[in-house]
Amino acid sequence: MIEIIFNSLDFENDIGPLVRAFFPSEKVEIRTDEAAGAEDPQKKLFVTFDEGSSVTLKWEGEKPAVDSIPWSDERIELKNRIKRSLYHMLSQETGKDLPWGALTGIRPVKLALTAMMEGKKEEDIKTLLQSEYLVSDEKTGVALSVAKKEASLLTDIDRNETYSLYVGVPFCPTICLYCSFASSPISEFSGRVEAYIEALKAELTAACDMMRHKRLVSVYFGGGTPTSLSAEGISYIMDHIIKNFDLSHLREWTVEAGRPDSIDEAKLLAIKERWEAAGYRIGRLSINPQTMNQKTLDLIGRRHTTEDIVRAFETARRIGIDNINTDIILGLPEETIDDVRHTADEIINLSPENLTVHSLAMKTKSRLSLQWDEWRNYTYRNGDGIMAVARGAAEKMGMEPYYLYRQKNMAGNLENTGYAIPGKEGLYNMLIMEQWHDIMAVGAGAASRKMYYDNEMGSWQSRRCENVKNIDEYIKRIEEMEDRKRMIFLK
Ligand code: SF4
Repeated sequence: MIEIIFNSLDFENDIGPLVRAFFPSEKVEIRTDEAAGAEDPQKKLFVTFDEGSSVTLKWEGEKPAVDSIPWSDERIELKNRIKRSLYHMLSQETGKDLPWGALTGIRPVKLALTAMMEGKKEEDIKTLLQSEYLVSDEKTGVALSVAKKEASLLTDIDRNETYSLYVGVPFCPTICLYCSFASSPISEFSGRVEAYIEALKAELTAACDMMRHKRLVSVYFGGGTPTSLSAEGISYIMDHIIKNFDLSHLREWTVEAGRPDSIDEAKLLAIKERWEAAGYRIGRLSINPQTMNQKTLDLIGRRHTTEDIVRAFETARRIGIDNINTDIILGLPEETIDDVRHTADEIINLSPENLTVHSLAMKTKSRLSLQWDEWRNYTYRNGDGIMAVARGAAEKMGMEPYYLYRQKNMAGNLENTGYAIPGKEGLYNMLIMEQWHDIMAVGAGAASRKMYYDNEMGSWQSRRCENVKNIDEYIKRIEEMEDRKRMIFLK
C-alpha cells in the first residue's frame, strides 16, 4: 500500500490517479491524518502546501526528490506544476515513463481539440502536450490526428442548437465479469419489462417536449443491451421516437446489439425497417465480440460461442445492415498476444466498418473488482505490443482513429480508441466524449447533460442530472425523473 499524506486536502483527485498510474498493483490511500493510516505501508508520500509560497513532495525518510514547487494563484497553473514535478519524481522512483505523461483525465484529445478550435497552430499544440503535460511523441501524434478528425466532423454541428438522444435499456442476457453498467439479467425482470418500456415511453414524450427548440442529430440506444428486448419491444420504442421527434436533421441512430446471444433476424429486421422510416442510411449497429477466443468468453461469463458472433454478423449483413461496429477488449484474463492476434484476424474476416478497442478497466462495481481475491492470480496483459496488434487490424481494414478516451484504473494505463472507415465514424461517440452539445438521456441510470457557454470562464460548462439506477424505482418515480430533466433543460 502507498499512503499519500496531505497537510491539507487539495488536488487530491489529480495527485492520487497519477500515483496509481505508476503503481497499478498497489492500493493507494489518501489521508490528512498520518496516525490514522495503515501500520506498515510500503511507502508514504508527503504533499505539503505552504499557501502562497510553495508545495513540497517528499517520500518518507528521504530528501525531496524534486525541488519545491513555486506557488501560483492560477489553479490550473499550480495543478500542472505539481503534476509535472510528481511525474518526474515517480518516474525516477519506478524507472517508468507513461505514454500519456501527467495527463490523468479521461479526455486527452480535448486539450488538442480545444486548442485547434481556438485557432492554435499544430506546432504550438504539440509543444503544449509535450512540455506542459509530458505526453510521449507517439501519443501526441495520436491526439493530434484524432483531434483533426473530430474537428472536421463536428464543426458543422452547432453546439447551441443541436442535441443527441440517449435511450438506456438496462437488461442483458447475463452479466459480464468486468461490467460496471447498471444492467441486470433480463430473466430476473420477466413481467416487469413491459412496465419499464411504458416508463421509457413516458419519459421520451416529456423529453421530446423539452427539446422542441433544438435539432436532434443523433440517437443512441445503449444500456445494457437493447436487443435483449423482444422485436415488439424494440419496435414499440423506436416507433414512439419516429412518431414524436422531429428526425429531419438526424444523421445517426446507433443500436447496441452488443451480445450476439440477444440478436435474431426478426429483431434486426425490425430495427432496420425503423431506421429506413427515420431516414435512409442513418443506422449503425454494434455487435461486440470483446474477444474471439472461446475460453475467454467462458471465463468472462458471456454465455455464447464465437460461432454465435459470426452468425449474428452474417444475419445483419444478409438483411442489408451496412454500418457495423465491433468492440474488443485488450487485457482480458489469461489472454496472450497470440489470443489478441487471433481475435484481430477473426475481426478482419468479419470486416466491420468500425472497431472500438478498449483496454480492460478495473471498475469498482464490477464482479472482477468485487471478487478480486478470486481473480487476482489470473494474468492481465496489455501494453504497446498488444495495442499495436489491434491498431494493425484497424489499418488493414482501411480504418483511421476518430475518437479516444481513457478510464480510471485501465490495464497498462492506456486508452480506448474508436477506429472507422472514413465516412462511417460513430458521431454520438465523438459528441459525448468532447461534451459537444446537450445529451437528453432517458432510462434507468441514464445521465443527461446540458451544455452552456460560461462567459466568465470563457469555456463550455455542463449541468448534469441522473436518473435512478434501480429499475423498479425508475418505473415508480418516472415523473420525478422528468422533473429532474426540466430543472436543467428548461432553466
Ligand atoms: S454486455 Fe455490456 S452492459 Fe451487458 S453485462 Fe456485458 S458489459 Fe455489462
